[in-house]
Amino acid sequence: MEEPRLGIPKLGPVIAIDGPAGTGKSTATRRLADRLGFVHIDTGALYRAIAWLVLERMKVVPGNDFAAVAMDIAGQVHLEFRRQATKNPANRVFANGQDVTDYIRTPEVTMTASQVSSIPQVRASLLGLQRRLGCQGKSILEGRDIGTVVFPDADVKFFLNASVDERAKRRLIELEAAGSDAPSFEEVRSQIEARDRIDSTRAVAPLKKASDSIEVDTSQMTLDQVVDTMEKWVNSRIK
Ligand code: C5P
Repeated sequence: MEEPRLGIPKLGPVIAIDGPAGTGKSTATRRLADRLGFVHIDTGALYRAIAWLVLERMKVVPGNDFAAVAMDIAGQVHLEFRRQATKNPANRVFANGQDVTDYIRTPEVTMTASQVSSIPQVRASLLGLQRRLGCQGKSILEGRDIGTVVFPDADVKFFLNASVDERAKRRLIELEAAGSDAPSFEEVRSQIEARDRIDSTRAVAPLKKASDSIEVDTSQMTLDQVVDTMEKWVNSRIK
């Protein structure tokens, strides 16, 4: 049993996947986890769940200080993932016992998640949970700071990237497929740039490539090619 710098015993291999929004990270991680028989931990969903709770609280008690509400909620909330095979997606996120999975992908929650995640106390509140989940072993954590902060001792680290134009194009296709009122390409592009800016310039755990992570530029790759590439690296590093 390996006891890395985390202070929690790691019961099996941990894979870290970081990168900005729109690189195909979530879908690629889900597929890789299925192929390897690993558990997929979508850490962005934890920040999104907190963002959703903050927005709900602010509706009831408007005028409250945003950061104070976010810190209060992050310090008390009970978050967990539960697998429910009959649902889509099957990996559900629960906040205080309520399934919030279907509420956390709206543009409003997306922008709010970026804001709450730049508050150091919120990040600190989520650190222990992410480490406990990952330390159960055979896990793939996906996020922005997994290889740098949450699991600096991950067995394999990836940094997925793609050009802003390509990411905006993919996001637009996703929005159109979901039947939402699709914004223009320029709008989507500038939202992505705004989120990148917040995520990579925040003081604590900014989005950045860990020096020992494997960078995969997915701009010109199909999803299968991305998953194949990562699987080969994993097989060469984890025996
Ligand atoms: O990955 P996803 O887009 O769902 O993440 C939502 C937001 O949560 C991101 O914009 C980012 O600000 C934040 N996040 C983070 N650290 C992580 C995962 C997500 O700051 N490990």
